[in-house]
Amino acid sequence: MDERATKIYSYLKEKFPEPMCELNFKDRYQLLVSVILSAQCTDKRVNIVTKDLFKKYPTAETMAKANLEELEQEIKPCGFYHNKAKNILSACQKIVSDFDGEVPEDYDKLLSLPGVGRKTANVITSAGFGGDAIAVDTHVFRVSRRLGLASGNTPEKVEQELMKALDKNVWSESHFLMVLFGRYICKAQRPLCEECGLKEYCKYYKGIKE
Ligand code: SF4
Repeated sequence: MDERATKIYSYLKEKFPEPMCELNFKDRYQLLVSVILSAQCTDKRVNIVTKDLFKKYPTAETMAKANLEELEQEIKPCGFYHNKAKNILSACQKIVSDFDGEVPEDYDKLLSLPGVGRKTANVITSAGFGGDAIAVDTHVFRVSRRLGLASGNTPEKVEQELMKALDKNVWSESHFLMVLFGRYICKAQRPLCEECGLKEYCKYYKGIKE
């Protein structure tokens, strides 16, 4: 990693020594459902919703048999509930019919599940299987561009740039570090720049267009 990436990584690691996914999940099925629900929604709200949801649907098999309208009402607080319910139901049906009820580890198979794009597949790869992947969500996208680790205008381009800028063994960890940093310090609106130790690397702070 170059000096900038190393300094940024070390600083974030000092701030958040034990970075991890803030979604509550006990297995890969629960992780998959939680990540689908987390689009445009806070992890806190997802955790509230999934507490009851996973009691009612403890496995992909049980979720695959859910009634769509009922499921929509159960996940409504997470927003975009028509699409999310449809995707969760279809993804679980495919997991049961094609993958013996288990969330697949193979990346292309993960991507073949309804509602699973690169971001979701990368979170499952890293948080679910312990693999190396950088999921680019809204926080990672914003933080990495502000800090000059990436400049691409799409999550896919930013992911490629981050894979080059960061050592493979810190890809997954860096995702969680940037999510936490973006959630609590480098917020979208009114980031806490005065308490941030990365000002010297920050384009946003220097008034350079991201
Ligand atoms: S200086 Fe401000 S905008 Fe830049 S990384 Fe730090 S918190 Fe984010």
